[in-house]
Amino acid sequence: MSLNRLFGLISLLLMLLFLTLAGIIVDGEWKVYQRSTESIPAIRKLHLALQVEENLIAERGVSNFLLQQDLPDDAAMHAKLAPARAASDRSLHNLRQALQERPGPWLAPVMADVLLTERRLAAARADMDSLAARSKAQRDPEAVAVAAAMIMSTLNVFAPAVAALSSIAVQADQQFHDGVDSAQLASSLRNVAGQMVSILTAPVVARRPLTAQERYTFAKLSGQADQLYAVIEMQLRAYSHKPDFRTALQTIRERPLGEGLDLLTNLFVIGRSSGGYGLGPDELIASYVPTMAAIPHLRDLIIMDMIREAEQRNLRARYVLLAAVGLAVLALGIFFLLLRVIRRRVLRPILDATDLFVSLANERLITSIPTPRYDDEIGDMMRAIHVLKAHSQERICLEKEREEMIAQLQAASDTDFLTGLLNRRAFFAQGEQQFGIAQRYRRQLTLILMDVDHFKAVNDQHGHLAGDQVLCKVAELSRRYRRKVDLLARYGGEEFLLMLPEIDLEQGRAVAEKLRVEIGACDFQLDDGVSLKISASFGVVSFDHDDTLESLIVRADQALYKAKDGGRNRVTALPREPGQDASRGVEDDNGRGRASEPGKGVDGFH
Ligand code: GH3
Ligand code: MG
Ligand code: MG
Repeated sequence: MSLNRLFGLISLLLMLLFLTLAGIIVDGEWKVYQRSTESIPAIRKLHLALQVEENLIAERGVSNFLLQQDLPDDAAMHAKLAPARAASDRSLHNLRQALQERPGPWLAPVMADVLLTERRLAAARADMDSLAARSKAQRDPEAVAVAAAMIMSTLNVFAPAVAALSSIAVQADQQFHDGVDSAQLASSLRNVAGQMVSILTAPVVARRPLTAQERYTFAKLSGQADQLYAVIEMQLRAYSHKPDFRTALQTIRERPLGEGLDLLTNLFVIGRSSGGYGLGPDELIASYVPTMAAIPHLRDLIIMDMIREAEQRNLRARYVLLAAVGLAVLALGIFFLLLRVIRRRVLRPILDATDLFVSLANERLITSIPTPRYDDEIGDMMRAIHVLKAHSQERICLEKEREEMIAQLQAASDTDFLTGLLNRRAFFAQGEQQFGIAQRYRRQLTLILMDVDHFKAVNDQHGHLAGDQVLCKVAELSRRYRRKVDLLARYGGEEFLLMLPEIDLEQGRAVAEKLRVEIGACDFQLDDGVSLKISASFGVVSFDHDDTLESLIVRADQALYKAKDGGRNRVTALPREPGQDASRGVEDDNGRGRASEPGKGVDGFH
């Protein structure tokens, strides 16, 4: 895998990991935020419900109280009842409004309970009004009991609404569990405290002793009040460090459970044996009812504390959420910046450097090296590559020069210095190749050996330099008969060799003849102004299947000998005789066959 792709893959994985972590943090905080956002209205609704409960209890107390006595007129009764009824109606209305604000599937049953409570309350009030219209003596005790039960049932109908809202609040935030419990217990305590005074109201009005049932109920309620308070106190231990709570509990201990309960207990003690309570019902209510205010106060404290804590959690969650999102965005930005920096300043230069190294290794020196933009390690590397490139260029130049020099030497070693033709050594090297091709593929190949006639006399008469000029001119004329595939060489002194691939003996002879005529016709102008006429003799032979290059040259030499012997200035083409030995080597100028060994071949064509 390429470095670039590997880097991209790792970056992608890192980003996914980072986004997952950021997502988990944001999701967690979002849940806290949402929970606290939803739990606050739930607690508020529960608070409204508990207020409804409290007002219904209060209305029940006032109603019960009024049913026990004669009232001079309707107006007097309504003056006493109206505030309690108005408080109930107001709190029910508030709760209904709160439920309608954001209705949901969970709240529908609560709403149904509220509506049922309102209907039941209206019916109870109608019963109550019809009874109260009569004088106390005219009231049927059974009807009074039914009316009292009706008012009581209103509370029972409403109880599921309180339970449902409590459970919704706890579900919205489990941390509300203890607070909701305590608030409900405070409501129950308020209910029990109200019921206790209600039990005593009728005997006080009638100035009679308590019945056995009333004594039993009072004792039971008194016990319940103590238990409820003990549980509340235990539940609120966690709040003991808060002065408000300490004071509220203290007040409950002193007022409803202190002064209030003492008052009721005294009446209870009196009522066990006589009806001489020493106070009327109005005094009882006026002394006792205000003490109960401490209980809803504690309940409100608990509710407010829960709302405050939820708001703090909400605020904290909002800040954490904002911080988490902000930091995640910032970190993501830094991460991208880092990736960009690594890519631009490290990875890309390394990849460029790799390409450059590969180019240098392959000696592609045209590739331009980017100028380092930063004064860092990568910049140092780029500068080093510049130096490497310069060294490589230098080395390649030197190598080129050396190769050119070798080629020149090679050419010089292959060339005859006087005529510029191939020399004897090069002829043998290249001739072997042509010869090999002819041998392998059974192709035609003809060899012409040419020797300038009486050349010694040229030297002798005109000097060695003139001889050289003549040799150069002969070479020049010979070149005209050389095709690209032919090899033309100065074989020695005044002797030349022409190798003609794909040419048979007759064609070779024709070429030699033309060259002979041309040499013979040529005026050789010497530097000193003298014009010379010369001639040359030619020996022509063709390759046969068992020839070697040497044997072919030997046979050409023999043909040349015949030409010389025949009077010079002529061409002798010598076909291979059957049985002629092809293995004889080439002899040098001083000891060649034709000089020592007269030709054995048949004269060719002249
Ligand atoms: P023939 O017709 O039998 O070939 O007679 P010739 O005189 O040409 O042959 P010979 O072998 O007797 O003489 C060849 C002469 O060529 C001898 C030598 O001095 C001369 N010679 C050889 N190489 C050179 C050279 O490079 N330059 C010059 N000017 N003369 C050379
Ligand atoms: Mg010669
Ligand atoms: Mg000669």
